[in-house]
Amino acid sequence: FRSNARLAGALRGYIARKFEEIRAREGRDYRIKIMDFCGTHEWTIVHFGLRSLMPEGVELVAGPGCPVCVTPSWYIERAIELSLSGVTVYTYGDTFKLRAVNPVDGVSSLEEARAAGGRVRLVVSLVDAVRDASRHGGESVFLGIGFETVAPGYARAVVSGSLPENLKLMSLVKLTPPAMFYSLDILRDKPTEPPVMGVIAPGHVSTVTGAKAWEPVAEQFQVPVVVSGFEPIDVLMGIAEIMRQLARGEYGVKVEYTRAVTWEGDLEAQAAIHEAFEAVDDAWRGIGFLPLSGLRLREKYGRLDALRHFGIEELTPEKWRKDTPPGCRCAEVTLGKAKPTDCPMFMKKCTPEKPYGPCMVSLEGTCAVWARFGGGG
Ligand code: SF4
Repeated sequence: FRSNARLAGALRGYIARKFEEIRAREGRDYRIKIMDFCGTHEWTIVHFGLRSLMPEGVELVAGPGCPVCVTPSWYIERAIELSLSGVTVYTYGDTFKLRAVNPVDGVSSLEEARAAGGRVRLVVSLVDAVRDASRHGGESVFLGIGFETVAPGYARAVVSGSLPENLKLMSLVKLTPPAMFYSLDILRDKPTEPPVMGVIAPGHVSTVTGAKAWEPVAEQFQVPVVVSGFEPIDVLMGIAEIMRQLARGEYGVKVEYTRAVTWEGDLEAQAAIHEAFEAVDDAWRGIGFLPLSGLRLREKYGRLDALRHFGIEELTPEKWRKDTPPGCRCAEVTLGKAKPTDCPMFMKKCTPEKPYGPCMVSLEGTCAVWARFGGGG
């Protein structure tokens, strides 16, 4: 970033000039809110202090960019039950520490389940789980948490028949466009706050979905949407493009991250996802059900589905209860309605070493990013 200091300075100046143009048109008190939708973008913004480079009146807010944060407590509780009953549960490291709101036999996380004798194994990918489950041959389940980025890998494993008979997939994959619609919609109705005027769209997700996934968002909310890469210069260029469009009264989708993202995306990956999964109304932790925002295995792959195989009841809108721990503002943080520092427990009762709420668990969680790097000015 230092070696690009001149470019960063030029972009900062450009953003400030465009903002002045907008204010000259809209009024001196006009404010602009720009939302990022990827935990890694938030990391870049915070780590490199990009908020401190924005003119006063331009606010960068984090959106729902962390799949672990939005995984309902319900499914963590079901995974704890499985592990305590002797089924081997494979999970990523961050989900291992995720706390459930309703303890199962006094056990509130997979980490505690393992300490209590449950069968929980940490893996970095589904491939590790396949290898290990094939070796021991016992009943097993892989917790498939993530956004569109992980779905192609899961889909290919399912379609190609790579999962051993004893390993089932619990697909908890979330789809990001419905969350983007929801976040922009609720912030639009908050009278004391400016609405989101521009979106930094997720770069990793867009490699799969293509930039075209965001066109309905730009159209419906009439805001610029820019797919950015993850270097600080990428993010600044994304913000500069948003300001350029706003100054001209334009809105549309632009790809800044052209080295990885195309308009159509990865068609092969999209086809694999479509073959293996169907989109369902799904619950987001602390937020509730969003239409067609999750992926479940199709009926024809039902024998590989952990939910069907173990007879696990799906969460429904009727059964759903707010599933963040008392006092935790993670849902508001996730939707850009609050900052981590607005939560009285931030860095007191809730720290990266001892996370109380879900946004503090994963490295992609906004609270965890702010805790490590200080909020980025
Ligand atoms: Fe929740 Fe912890 Fe973030 Fe507060 S600091 S909102 S308790 S995750």
